[in-house]
Amino acid sequence: MSRLVPPHGSPVLRPLLVESEAREEELKRAARLKKIPMSSRETSDLLMMGIGAFTPLEGFMGYDDWKGCCESLSLPSYGGLFWPVPITLSCDEELASSLVPGEEAALWDAETESLVGLIRVREKYRIDKQYECREVFRTADPAHPGVRKVLMQGPVNVAGPVRVLSELHYPQAFAGIYQRPAEARRIFEQRGWSTVAALQLRNPMHNSHAYLAWIAIEICDGVYIHQLIGKLKEGDIPAEVRVRAVEALVNKYFRKDRVVQGGYPMEMRYAGPREALLHAVFRQNYGCSHLIVGRDHAGVGNYYGPFDAQRIFDEIPPDALAIRPLCMDWTFYCYECGSMASMKTCPHDSEAVIDENGQYRGGARLLLSGTLLRKLLSEGKAVPPEFSRPEVIAILREYYDSLHRRPPERDAVGSGSAAAALS
Ligand SMILES: [Zn+2]
Repeated sequence: MSRLVPPHGSPVLRPLLVESEAREEELKRAARLKKIPMSSRETSDLLMMGIGAFTPLEGFMGYDDWKGCCESLSLPSYGGLFWPVPITLSCDEELASSLVPGEEAALWDAETESLVGLIRVREKYRIDKQYECREVFRTADPAHPGVRKVLMQGPVNVAGPVRVLSELHYPQAFAGIYQRPAEARRIFEQRGWSTVAALQLRNPMHNSHAYLAWIAIEICDGVYIHQLIGKLKEGDIPAEVRVRAVEALVNKYFRKDRVVQGGYPMEMRYAGPREALLHAVFRQNYGCSHLIVGRDHAGVGNYYGPFDAQRIFDEIPPDALAIRPLCMDWTFYCYECGSMASMKTCPHDSEAVIDENGQYRGGARLLLSGTLLRKLLSEGKAVPPEFSRPEVIAILREYYDSLHRRPPERDAVGSGSAAAALS
């Protein structure tokens, strides 16, 4: 009997991956069906359904569930189950009009031109994209990367149950990191854990993230460092580099029996509070009892207040989720405290000044900006050890050096404070 939290809305995980011999048959059959091309976001959602991370979803949502999800975070066709973000598939007019309800169609990833799964078309419908964006993203500004993807998707949504035939390149490209929820649960159970805190990571793991992981270990049986290996926005640090940096940090500064690393194939929507809730839903499916929610979780630019993603957990029904947020304030190194600290603990208001050579020039709180970090790394200058461990810096430096030898990228670290960019 597992002591972990149950999956979301179901006593068991519901992976939609078709395996073994059945898969070969399905692949042959799929080759003869109409092709629905998927955007990278749609593909990533399908993969999440495949591995059971979106338990108990059976496929892409129909109109009622789309509407319920946008309006009241609930799915009528799953008995009003809590769900924070629409999981939908779109296509163009011509293809949509050729699809007949009841028909089976093949789902292709447009970017890699590979077959990923099958859908039994149940419904076709149109949506008000502006409405979806305002509800889910709290903005319809096309400059928001998640909004832009909704606005660019096809005019007709296609809904129906899916079966997944491929995990694409993930198991090979991220061997040892890529994990299905059932695999993570097995590891937690073998260790005898009942409480596990998930640390969502889409940036290199600096000291502030490591500090949060340590706090989580004090509270729970262990921490699950869960890295996004799906697509990010342009300029974010590639997953391979982040994975190596985390590896280096964990190897030296963590007790092996208190930490598990994993990766998941979802793409970021940058939907801030709503996405924090989606992160909670699938972490519950991975067996986690807690989700660390820091400053500006899953946010981008200035669209969300720094703690909106924490507050939203108080606004949903208390029984919506079994997983609980572990809300953490903005963390940093403080030269006055002489340790890692947070806005909640540290009484020193001044910001530490780091000069162009990476030297400390006074002040208390070290909030190293992404712009300065990038500058120090690309110019080969010292990064204060209070910000990041030397093992992490060495890996990042190597990455920035390799960029230097190629045409420059527009925004290699992202704007704002890297210390703040938690998720
Ligand atoms: Zn202080």
